[in-house]
Amino acid sequence: MSIAIIGAGASGCVAAYFLLKAGLDVTLFDFSAPLRTLLPTGGGRCNLAHAEYDFKELAKNYPRGEKFLYSVFSKFSTYDTIALFEELGVETYVQEDGRIFPKSNSAKDVRDKILKKIKKADFIKEKITDVIPLESGFKIKTEKAEYFFSHVIISTGGKSSFKGLKHKIIPFTPSLVGLNADIKDLSGVCIKNVFSNDFKISGDILFTHFGISGPLIYKISSIKARDTFPYKISLNLYPQALQLQDLLNSSPHKELKNILSKYLPQNFVKHLLGDLAEVKAHKIDGKTRDSILNRIHNFELNITGTNRGEETVTAGGYNLNEISSKTMESKLYPNLYFTGECLDIDGFCGGFNLQNAWSTAYIASLSILQAI
Ligand SMILES: Cc1cc2nc3c(=O)[nH]c(=O)nc-3n(C[C@H](O)[C@H](O)[C@H](O)COP(=O)(O)OP(=O)(O)OC[C@H]3O[C@@H](n4cnc5c(N)ncnc54)[C@H](O)[C@@H]3O)c2cc1C
Repeated sequence: MSIAIIGAGASGCVAAYFLLKAGLDVTLFDFSAPLRTLLPTGGGRCNLAHAEYDFKELAKNYPRGEKFLYSVFSKFSTYDTIALFEELGVETYVQEDGRIFPKSNSAKDVRDKILKKIKKADFIKEKITDVIPLESGFKIKTEKAEYFFSHVIISTGGKSSFKGLKHKIIPFTPSLVGLNADIKDLSGVCIKNVFSNDFKISGDILFTHFGISGPLIYKISSIKARDTFPYKISLNLYPQALQLQDLLNSSPHKELKNILSKYLPQNFVKHLLGDLAEVKAHKIDGKTRDSILNRIHNFELNITGTNRGEETVTAGGYNLNEISSKTMESKLYPNLYFTGECLDIDGFCGGFNLQNAWSTAYIASLSILQAI
């Protein structure tokens, strides 16, 4: 048996770890440094999992792949990830919001600990240009050479595909990304705890020079990753009850912008209200008051695209219908496996994408070990 892993990212390196631990030889291919992709995760702190211990609940955090992951997570889920990292010498802790980090708060430390454990793998720094299934095994072509292996794991992350394989690819689209909207002069304005009227979820938003970003927007971009542009989103900028009439009555000579700046950033209030921002409270009639409340509670934005290149993950990838969720093996070619983000699986922010990488890496390696 000879095993090639294409892609030395999160899932490829952990698959290598499981196989080496069982005494098998492994060749890892990557055109770049191994685990380079781990370094920016969690803002350099590596949010490696999420403290959701029920596997079905965990799977709900994947707009694409939820059902497929039931079987995967039933075998390797959050507790297993924590145990895996303990085994690798990485102690973890749970942050208040449920995100799990290494105690070192260092993605570099996590990378180094994994690399130390997979030193025995052959590492070939070449870009794979194609994978060709043979009657028995696979030919792997690079820009420099050809290699032959009996078993291949594809762990190429976001956007790669190989012509030699007849696997269908669901088109790649950016996810967990800022959204373009026709809104100017608000760059840098942040509003906390905004509610999405469309999806009943909350989070902070941040206006940018291209539109809008922040945790709530990332989540919306993920839910809408397969929608076509333009689309509208509706936000409740102040989800608590706002007794605007009482506020107007209690400060009749104050301008609206000064009354509302207690609740929303003042430069945003000016944008929202235009000329009305300068009007004194006692001049606001009932109809205008209701229209202001409506603008606050149903703030609509026309979304025209994503901020290309900023995406954290890509939606799309190898079609799950052609892969077994029990083994991660191809249904088209025996001894070909897939792990991580190259699959048509992507999760929200919070450690879910790395959890997918570890879990699918475990299942693929276990299947190879069971086949010996
Ligand atoms: C800035 C940023 C922050 C993130 N933070 C988090 C976080 O905190 N928590 C979380 O859960 N997720 C996070 N993610 C997502 C997470 O990093 C990915 O989902 C995860 O790395 C996917 O693992 P993977 O093994 O599938 O692919 P990757 O880790 O992307 O690895 C794929 C590897 O394959 C190699 N490769 C690709 N094509 C070829 C080829 N043809 N030949 C040779 N090599 C090839 C690439 O060079 C790469 O090294 C973040 C992503 C980004 C961009």
